[in-house]
Amino acid sequence: MHCPFCRHADSRVVDSRTSDDGSSIRRRRQCPSCGRRFTTVETASLSVVKRSGATEPFSRDKVVSGVRKACQGRPVSSDDLALLAQKVEETLRGAGSAEIDAYEIGLAILGPLRELDEVAYLRFASVYQAFDSLEDFEAAITSLRSERSERSERPTAGPDEGAGS
Ligand SMILES: [Zn+2]
Repeated sequence: MHCPFCRHADSRVVDSRTSDDGSSIRRRRQCPSCGRRFTTVETASLSVVKRSGATEPFSRDKVVSGVRKACQGRPVSSDDLALLAQKVEETLRGAGSAEIDAYEIGLAILGPLRELDEVAYLRFASVYQAFDSLEDFEAAITSLRSERSERSERPTAGPDEGAGS
């Protein structure tokens, strides 16, 4: 790491700390030549492979702007969206791959968006999964309803009738 002040070819790490969410490390460095201090931030790279084959760095802002349209008129705050983007990034980083398909981002958005707002979820899913008929909406709504009734039942797992053979 070159010193940004005098371009000396070496520097000494005087302090390291991990960010609260564990996704980056800040290092305080000191130049042995001029004695000045500077900070570097280290993050594991996460690249998005677009349909064209080009790659770009993952961006939470792009997740937010991708979801914001589906949330128009819904009781969803910008804090909610920032939290959703953070969950999406954690999911993608948790998968352990340095490169992800743009498609996987949409997939990672669906879960947290469904918890956030069901109408926004349906709007987003209809575009992302290219719903082209009322049946597609019906199927998605049926699945939302059945999950909702499962959630409202007692959390104890009952016998799963008809499962297996
Ligand atoms: Zn220096």
